[in-house]
Amino acid sequence: MKITADFHTHTRYSHGTGTVNDNAVNALSLGLRAVAITDHARNHPIVGVKQSKLDAIRQDINAVDKEYRNIKVLMGLEANIISKKGDIDVSEEDAEKLDLLLLGFHLTAYQKSLADYFALPFNGVTRIFFKNSAKQKAVNTQAVIDSVLRNKIDILTHPGFRIDVDYYAVAEACREAGTFMELSSRHRIPDISGLEQALKAGAKFIVNSDAHKPVNVGRCAYALDLIGELGLTDNEVVNISDKPITFRRGLTV
Ligand SMILES: [Zn+2]
Ligand SMILES: [Zn+2]
Repeated sequence: MKITADFHTHTRYSHGTGTVNDNAVNALSLGLRAVAITDHARNHPIVGVKQSKLDAIRQDINAVDKEYRNIKVLMGLEANIISKKGDIDVSEEDAEKLDLLLLGFHLTAYQKSLADYFALPFNGVTRIFFKNSAKQKAVNTQAVIDSVLRNKIDILTHPGFRIDVDYYAVAEACREAGTFMELSSRHRIPDISGLEQALKAGAKFIVNSDAHKPVNVGRCAYALDLIGELGLTDNEVVNISDKPITFRRGLTV
């Protein structure tokens, strides 16, 4: 089993090591039919993509896309959750310039207010040492749910990474909204029990590499092992066959 398209990869436009072309060449060598360039959005410290760079990135991606007939090269961004109410750091206006909008929780992302630092990342730090309390888990879960319901997110990246969430509840929101949940090989998350809970709620999954180096594009061993173990098919995981995938924002690949 393998993935047929990788919708989450990074380049030097944030803190990846390769170019758009490098990622495309690696994806092509694995026979993928699409690869998305999804660098970190602006609230990611230091490396986040500034709004003023979006047009230049789009031109670069379109030029590479034109170069290769057998692969689609798509433009996305990996937005950050920046408040406990589910605000994100990509405006709808900017999102309309993209093919895909991804969203993830990142511990270091600039938050909207001091209260939001205490609501989310602060607890993400203590989470390194202790599990989040039930109360904290509820706050985390609600923030993730609100961010998915309030914004047109195509893919929720590495759900549960650095932040404990109720997978069933998050998955229900994703199913309702039409947002795919990511099975992340890079962060090895969700684990098997989180994945089972999310599947029970009817969420659809997508497997991505989250590659920060071109050589890792399309590499998803952890996720593919889990899929094999649970006997999942393209009914549950959308990018392990050649069936067209329609995303929430409208893209069909
Ligand atoms: Zn991420
Ligand atoms: Zn990423």
